Amino acid sequence: MTIELTPDPHVADLAERTAAFVRAIVVPEEERFAGVASAGGEPLRQHLQEAAREAGVFAPHVSTEYGGHGLDMRGRALVFEEAGWSLFGPLALNIAAPDEGNMHLLEAVATAEQKEQYLRPLAEGAVRSCFAMTEPAPGAGSDPAALATVATRSRGGWLINGRKWFITGADGAAYTICMARTSGEPGDRGGATMFLIDAGTPGLRIARHIDTLDEAFFGGHCELELEDVFVSDESVLGAVDQGFEYAQVRLAPARLTHCMRWLGIARRSQEIAVTRAAERRMFGSRLGDLGMVQAMIADSEIDIAASRLLILQACAELDQGRSAAQSSSIAKTFVAEAVGRVVDRSLQICGALGVSGDVLLSRYHREVRPFRIYDGPSETHRWAIAKRRLRQSPVSPAAQPIAQPIAQPIAQPIAQPIAQMIAERVNVGE
Ligand SMILES: Cc1cc2nc3c(=O)[nH]c(=O)nc-3n(C[C@H](O)[C@H](O)[C@H](O)COP(=O)(O)OP(=O)(O)OC[C@H]3O[C@@H](n4cnc5c(N)ncnc54)[C@H](O)[C@@H]3O)c2cc1C
Repeated sequence: MTIELTPDPHVADLAERTAAFVRAIVVPEEERFAGVASAGGEPLRQHLQEAAREAGVFAPHVSTEYGGHGLDMRGRALVFEEAGWSLFGPLALNIAAPDEGNMHLLEAVATAEQKEQYLRPLAEGAVRSCFAMTEPAPGAGSDPAALATVATRSRGGWLINGRKWFITGADGAAYTICMARTSGEPGDRGGATMFLIDAGTPGLRIARHIDTLDEAFFGGHCELELEDVFVSDESVLGAVDQGFEYAQVRLAPARLTHCMRWLGIARRSQEIAVTRAAERRMFGSRLGDLGMVQAMIADSEIDIAASRLLILQACAELDQGRSAAQSSSIAKTFVAEAVGRVVDRSLQICGALGVSGDVLLSRYHREVRPFRIYDGPSETHRWAIAKRRLRQSPVSPAAQPIAQPIAQPIAQPIAQPIAQMIAERVNVGE
């Protein structure tokens, strides 16, 4: 496969303007709040998004019909990396998780009415949203088939009961895209449905904010209780019993966009370390003249360059309408670990300064660690990567699919790229 590495001029221009905007407008706010989004709250989000609109860099991923720039995945790779230079950059451009992934899902799957009601205000930044798949044990996690939240038929709609946790952005979200089981039992690979549940619907309750290592996501990571939550048939996103298939529509691109954003933080960390290495003097030379420091800087350059190319390869496959199942798993696993290594080396080069609050490296160190777990833990991806590779072996029982089909064929026609994505899916959680 040939991958075009030179971006279209309009994409290069948008990436350049995004980089300038983030450095001039966003970074000062990030430094003021030490990267803690909740310290700035909703007024900060609105201020940054207004500034991004004025700078013409808002919503690069959304189609022009919904007010965005309509970038393809390769275009997003460039622009999202520049936005990721600051923890607040994605928030400013309205490309932060989970909203960005939800917009992608809604554009692909929602009905025209649902798009007007849910996608448009989200794309405009008027509201936030969340995506609720994961459950406390023994429910859905790395293995979504363990899904235990149930939706049962009632009064011309559905009654949903269950418990979700680690739901990013739930506090303050206008709605939740919730996965619930509509047929089968926990352990079955089919029978899930996605529901759009408005905030304030009786029975939907935030049980607690989970205290976590990271804290830069708006609305925190919440545990949700769903007790006899009634929703109408119009709240079903896509077709009944096809939720796992639609989840794949969201997950492959969403794990890549996480990679793009975190790559920006890796570059910023390296910049901080290189500046320090060039300035700080010890043992009669600059820190950067010492071989072991040079090795750390070089290894980080290699991690950054390799990450960017792996992301681009998976993006090119998605843009060509392919599933990118293997390439996005490879990119996600490598980038999540590479970004952690880069931030860690940068912190080491800065010495005690690195762990202090005087530079943002300690903040970044805490923020990037969970990425090895969400969007599929590294181990789940490695398992899936190896299974796909083994399936290609001429001596393996190749006819055996790597995971049993999660469900029956999609009930309603969906776009070809989505169908291909589903055909090669594996289970890797949000
Ligand atoms: C910061 C953060 C934000 C999140 N946001 C959301 C959200 O918005 N919405 C949502 O639905 N979920 C969210 N999650 C949940 C996330 O998707 C899950 O944590 C993830 O899918 C793993 O599930 P689990 O935590 O239940 O771990 P488990 O499924 O219990 O797995 C535990 C460990 O088992 C190992 N493991 C897994 N698979 C294999 C394998 N095949 N072989 C060997 N070892 C394996 C891995 O080391 C893994 O870390 C978030 C999580 C975090 C940390």
